[in-house]
Amino acid sequence: RAKAHQRGGHFTFSRAMGAEMRERVRMMHALRAAFANKELTLAYQPQVNLATRQPMGAEALLRWQRPDGSFVPPDRFIPIAEYSGLIIEIGQWVIETACAELVRLRALGHRAFTMSVNVSQVQFRHPYFVDMLRGALARTQAPPEYLHLEITESVAMEEPDTLIRMLAQIKETGVSIAIDDFGTGFSSLSYLQRLQVDCLKIDRAFVSEITESARGSSIAEMVVQLGRNLGLSIVAEGVEDERQAQVLEALGCPYAQGYLFSRPITPQQLAEWLATHNAHAA
Ligand code: C2E
Ligand code: MG
Ligand code: MG
Ligand code: MG
Repeated sequence: RAKAHQRGGHFTFSRAMGAEMRERVRMMHALRAAFANKELTLAYQPQVNLATRQPMGAEALLRWQRPDGSFVPPDRFIPIAEYSGLIIEIGQWVIETACAELVRLRALGHRAFTMSVNVSQVQFRHPYFVDMLRGALARTQAPPEYLHLEITESVAMEEPDTLIRMLAQIKETGVSIAIDDFGTGFSSLSYLQRLQVDCLKIDRAFVSEITESARGSSIAEMVVQLGRNLGLSIVAEGVEDERQAQVLEALGCPYAQGYLFSRPITPQQLAEWLATHNAHAA
């Protein structure tokens, strides 16, 4: 059994705790310090209308840059943030910062631009999530109809009644819901129909398969059809080349994001990207 004892204000763990546990605890302290020291920032990846290639919105993505310049990938630190509960504070900061950025872009004339924010399962299950969301909207004065929350399909599969109630409360705020990485989970179609969601995001894995084989586009095609039948918007993720974009457009997928259009960029770069790519706004 693992034993912990106090020494000099820090816990030292017996070897039985294992290297993995020590590494997690070390990462957790490092992450808390990084958040306090403002080493966490948001990058924004543009989303476009596939037919016109005009900007539609952006997805906010967390970045952790260490003082030495190196980046810790989100797939490494977000599980730590979830496990430690830090995601509650960090996630609130993400929503407020993305809302403030949305307001700033609107002031620059990008009035139809949407902002998507990832919400983890742990945040979503927190009893004050909807109150926090309302507070963030009120403090930043962001228009809720331009804010989209992305939840993963695994969240969408848990405790149907609780989830359905949560989604209804979020809908009341005016904020939209997207299901991220759609197609990677196993949610049933009848269940999906009961959920008040607005958008499905086709997972990058299915986008990359599109041009690989004759049947490679079948999952993307199915998601597009499903979205259409349910009256949902569709965003394809991870579009890296023109052929993928063309197949998706031919399948009837309205929106996309990926390195073909832009990598995730800084707020300054996003404003510049919009100024050069938006035919309508200044
Ligand atoms: P996601 O929400 O599915 O985000 C899409 C990921 O695909 C991002 O990785 C993005 O940089 C990457 N990507 C976009 N276009 C392309 C492309 O053309 N090719 C390739 N190969 N990759 C592309 P990133 O930024 O490393 O984020 C990974 C995951 O971390 C996200 O997946 C999301 O689940 C999570 N995440 C990021 N920011 C947040 C956050 O603020 N809160 C929460 N809870 N999770 C976040
Ligand atoms: Mg996402
Ligand atoms: Mg995704
Ligand atoms: Mg993902």
